[in-house]
Amino acid sequence: MSVRTRADLAALPGYVPGRTVPGAVKLASNEVSLGPLPSVVAAIAEAAGQVNRYPDSGATAVVAELAARLGVRESQVSVGCGSVTLCQQLVQATCGESDVVVFPWRSFEAYPIITQVVGAQQVRVPLTAGHELDVEAIVAAVTPRTRLVFVCTPNNPTGTALTAEQLDRVVSAVPSDVLVVIDEAYREFVDDPAIPDGVEYAKASWAHGRDNVAVLRTFSKAYGLAGLRVGYLVASEEVTEVVRKVFVPFGVNAVAQAAAVASLRAQDELLERCREIVAERTRVREALLGMGFDVPPSQANFVWLPLGERTAEFNEHCMAHKVVVRAFAGDGARVTIGTAAENDQFLAAAADFPS
Ligand code: PMP
Repeated sequence: MSVRTRADLAALPGYVPGRTVPGAVKLASNEVSLGPLPSVVAAIAEAAGQVNRYPDSGATAVVAELAARLGVRESQVSVGCGSVTLCQQLVQATCGESDVVVFPWRSFEAYPIITQVVGAQQVRVPLTAGHELDVEAIVAAVTPRTRLVFVCTPNNPTGTALTAEQLDRVVSAVPSDVLVVIDEAYREFVDDPAIPDGVEYAKASWAHGRDNVAVLRTFSKAYGLAGLRVGYLVASEEVTEVVRKVFVPFGVNAVAQAAAVASLRAQDELLERCREIVAERTRVREALLGMGFDVPPSQANFVWLPLGERTAEFNEHCMAHKVVVRAFAGDGARVTIGTAAENDQFLAAAADFPS
């Protein structure tokens, strides 16, 4: 007799991670191409010597460091095993079976999976023709059954970001008992002054009695710790309190916590790296535009090529040139900005793609 599992999960597509191909450049997972700084490696080594003990379950050192830097109370910060785990905790904390999560689509691949795993319903709101979040359509999608709205800005995989006015439109239209989660995994790569800092935006919202605005960030991208799995939530206390109740005990390991603290202390150097990636992003986009590709302006550490039906062909072509990109069948390819040499290898492949 086979084990009886949830019938509704049978058709669930699993999360597909970016591929690592030996000998090829990986521009598929929005990682930083450079390894951790020596000070971070030293902190990792020190923590490694104590892994016979369970980690600090509340990640208090990370929380304290973040709260001081962000100007919020420690009780308003919650650390998770990657921000994807916090996405799941947020859905678990807000949604039961008939409740609805609204999110833009195409966006972060984990939103629909998490929603289905938790057993909630989903409404996917298509992007605009310009590959941006459709603010009016998001607002229109919210009903009395909606419990959570994900707003991914900059949006993965299109790189477009919301202005303060656009965020205001969403936040002011959504009832105050519906959680609005601003997913800012790529915040550190934003250079357009019209794009607000989500944490500052959330703080201003709380000051106006809008406790339903929360922000997600991660150490996986700008801080270069994708392999260690650390992300954080900045929210009102009523939200962090319930999010903590649905956590998996000891989910953030001690090595990850030590690396996160060391990375925050090396923030200036790491953010300087981000500025170099942003400069490369401009160079890559301009080169691609010059080749005739459509590339929406990106505020993240990747660019989006809406290739439609030619996506699979482009993916194979890049693979043949030993560059791994992230293809979304029939839609487009997302290409992470790597080092100048990696980007050159990708651009050489793109230049050779038959038009
Ligand atoms: N949000 C967005 C928009 C992302 O693109 C990602 C990673 N791809 C995450 C959250 C999760 O990142 P992590 O779990 O590594 O913190």
